[in-house]
Amino acid sequence: MRRTHRCGDLRATHVGQRALLQGWVHRQRDHGGLIFIDLRDREGIVQVVFNPTIAPEAHATASDARAEYVLEIEGTVAPRPAGTENPELPTGAVEVVADRAQVLNPSLPLPFTVAEEGPVDEAVRLTYRYLDLRRPRMARNLVLRHRVVKFIRDFFDELGFLEVETPILAKSTPEGARDYLVPSRVRPGEFYALPQAPQQFKQLLMVGGVDRYFQIARCFRDEDLRADRQPEFTQLDLEMSFVEQDDVLGLAEDLFTRMSRALTTKNVPTPFPRLTYDEAMTLYGSDKPDLRYGMASVELSDLFGETEFEVFRGVLGSGGVIRGIRVPGGARYSRREIDELTETGKTEGARGLAWAAIEPGELRSSFARFLSEGEQRAMIERLEGREGDLLLLVAAPGWVPSKALGAIRIEVARREGLADPDTLAYARITEFPLLEWDEEGRRWDAVHHPFTSPMDEDFSLLESDPGRVRAQAYDLVCNGWELGGGSIRIHRRELQERMFGLLGFTPERAEAQFGHMLRAFQYGTPPHGGMAVGIDRVVAIFAGESSIREVMAFPKNQSAADLLMNAPSQVDERQLRDLHIGLELD
Ligand code: ASP
Repeated sequence: MRRTHRCGDLRATHVGQRALLQGWVHRQRDHGGLIFIDLRDREGIVQVVFNPTIAPEAHATASDARAEYVLEIEGTVAPRPAGTENPELPTGAVEVVADRAQVLNPSLPLPFTVAEEGPVDEAVRLTYRYLDLRRPRMARNLVLRHRVVKFIRDFFDELGFLEVETPILAKSTPEGARDYLVPSRVRPGEFYALPQAPQQFKQLLMVGGVDRYFQIARCFRDEDLRADRQPEFTQLDLEMSFVEQDDVLGLAEDLFTRMSRALTTKNVPTPFPRLTYDEAMTLYGSDKPDLRYGMASVELSDLFGETEFEVFRGVLGSGGVIRGIRVPGGARYSRREIDELTETGKTEGARGLAWAAIEPGELRSSFARFLSEGEQRAMIERLEGREGDLLLLVAAPGWVPSKALGAIRIEVARREGLADPDTLAYARITEFPLLEWDEEGRRWDAVHHPFTSPMDEDFSLLESDPGRVRAQAYDLVCNGWELGGGSIRIHRRELQERMFGLLGFTPERAEAQFGHMLRAFQYGTPPHGGMAVGIDRVVAIFAGESSIREVMAFPKNQSAADLLMNAPSQVDERQLRDLHIGLELD
């Protein structure tokens, strides 16, 4: 190695040493005599001084150098003159006095400055991703991502898990999105599918006696993109034999507690709260509640059984519910602010929002005048309202009050800054429904996937009341994000057949698509279960980023395009012919 040190590693202890550094010109400042160059490599930045009287040639090279030129310099590490130290910079106590400099490669003027973190149009960043990756934020995120993956590998290795690779050229897996297809050249008219997840392979590994499997697995889903979605993404995928739900969730809790504490400085409340799907939906109107703040909604229906207030009476009479939340300190909200919250509630189907501000000696309210004093008192008591608080109530059918108040809760937390950025509030959500009714297709769909086992207690409902069957399925959530989920699987042929039947598969179609699974289940398949967790989301949360694109080296943009390589792109006529493909473009 020609380099003797890394730029970012130099400290006062190196003073007097010779240093040969190679790196990029972060900034160049010409003081009309001395020239200062901040030289950067992956480890950081160090100041290099060029003195025309000591080293005229090196000074001339430095004078011509521009941002992002690659330089090699040689010199002596010296303390910075008193008063010019930079405590902000890890190398700020020293500088390198250069006696030789060489340009290893110049750079064109840049499309954006690497040295500043200011906002740059994302399309430009993605087109020049290699420059973007030089910026400290991206460099930091890549290091963090590496640490996360390494932590996971070490953790599972210690517990006796095997990392097994599964095919990328695979068969369609039913994870709920559209497949990316790859045409076969040797079998005209046939296609591989890129795996949406290694679900079937990992179950087959359990049949194969692997016992404990994990993989840092690439998954592909052709779906509309959002901030936390990408066409290809990475999962920690795992599967275990002879386990129950709590074994898998306990392992996940242990991993995430230890990893969060090792790789971040954030607070990690433990044990992770456990909520059933029903509880989460009822209290927070969401199956991935942000538990960094309270404001769970509270059932109030029973307080208004005898009410004269017609709106409440009507809703209760038709089987609806009344729920409320307390916004601490919200009595100061203006009418306009309350109207905005009402609009938020409407996005979840609430027709209106009843509000009451607890002010000194009075209740300023949109509806309290219709209530008896006893009802007012009971409502305040149930919601634990105090002077200065705002009480918000929604009366509506089914989940609507929970969901509307859940959306309002998130909006209030955003306005008031209630979500502590230094806390990772994990939670386990369990007892998801097994099936959901698809109105369009007029059939039942698997909520998780068709290999998920129903809860033992609910077996008898499978045919009589499928919508009420709960699954042995679970999610791990954090700060309002779904990090991942999994389930205990079906491992017997008869039950898997029954499940396919419920999902509307004819036996022939079940055989054509999943015959390999049904067959495997006849050869001593152990009970098994597992889960998958989105690595991109984990790194984004650890890094405090709101988009997973910020933690992927080469992400696609919002229209699934790679702007750097310019993919997808057209291909040769000949390639298409080889694949037996003719194009019919409108
Ligand atoms: N295959 C599932 C997914 O990707 C996770 C699991 O059930 O293990 O969401």
